[in-house]
Amino acid sequence: LERELTRLRSLPAITLDGVTISLLANLELPRDLDIATDRGAEGVGLFRTEFMFMNRDVLPDEDEQYAALRQVVEGMAGKPVTIRTLDVGGEKLATALGDRIAHSANPALGLRAIRLSLREPKLLETQLSAILRAGAHGPVRILLPMISSTAQVRAVRAILTKVVRRLKRRKVRIADPTPPLGAMIEVPAAALSADALAMECDFLALGTNDLTMYTLAIDRGDEQVADLYNPLHPAVLKLIQFSIDAANRHGLPVSICGEIAGDPRYAPLLIGMGVKELSMSATALPRVKQRIRRLSLAPATQRARAIMDQLDEGRIAVLLDDFNDGL
Ligand code: PEP
Ligand code: MG
Repeated sequence: LERELTRLRSLPAITLDGVTISLLANLELPRDLDIATDRGAEGVGLFRTEFMFMNRDVLPDEDEQYAALRQVVEGMAGKPVTIRTLDVGGEKLATALGDRIAHSANPALGLRAIRLSLREPKLLETQLSAILRAGAHGPVRILLPMISSTAQVRAVRAILTKVVRRLKRRKVRIADPTPPLGAMIEVPAAALSADALAMECDFLALGTNDLTMYTLAIDRGDEQVADLYNPLHPAVLKLIQFSIDAANRHGLPVSICGEIAGDPRYAPLLIGMGVKELSMSATALPRVKQRIRRLSLAPATQRARAIMDQLDEGRIAVLLDDFNDGL
């Protein structure tokens, strides 16, 4: 099995009927980069930048952020790196930002992620500068967490334009052209606004961890309700399908970067739903690739439709198991 997984590294993630799927890595820390390249990731679909802000008293300055990002961009050697702006707040705490995030009764619904970045534009400008500079060393994409309205994307684009102009005026080497700007679809409002977001964005990325949490109103970290947390809930699947369809209608790249993307059991369903990019923890890449190479798109599309017709979570799980057993 180990040998089979090693062999898979250099093989493409292609279905039996010839459809190529992009398999990308999620990075939590720059050191995850080694596993990503070792497992044959075709790029980074989600680089979480929170590590730079957590467990410390002083915020990282632009140069420190640039150095960390550049390391990953260079490590990927020309493959695209999707860098997500700061996603703290809620369950992700950052001591250095402590006093800026006031105590909130419902942190998951409070000042977090893009809301914080837009409230503290200096923080965002510093991060965008670092990303633009890292983008001079290889292709990058900018991804915004917890987007819930198109106005937020427009606000970031205006700030991005300003930062680009400032860096060019100072003759700083930056990504040229300006990198694609994308939104995470991880709250129901974003999924239901996917058409509008598709018109403001260059790509979309589905964060199914938070999308499941916010759709079902179940804290993803609360063990007392962990049994109710189910990405296969028909309501979650409908939001995923709606978002994929919107992106495809607009000809926009769309990926899935929640944990389900790295579960080989889910890959056939997600591909049947019309997604061509999956981003996952790098260790999961070979097994997902193996599953994809046993799959044909046409029957997968039909299976996905049959699953989407179900109203019952248990029935959905049974149909998905049947589908996988047949591969
Ligand atoms: C998600 O919410 O699905 C996601 C990919 O982001 P994170 O797990 O970092 O919140
Ligand atoms: Mg998330």
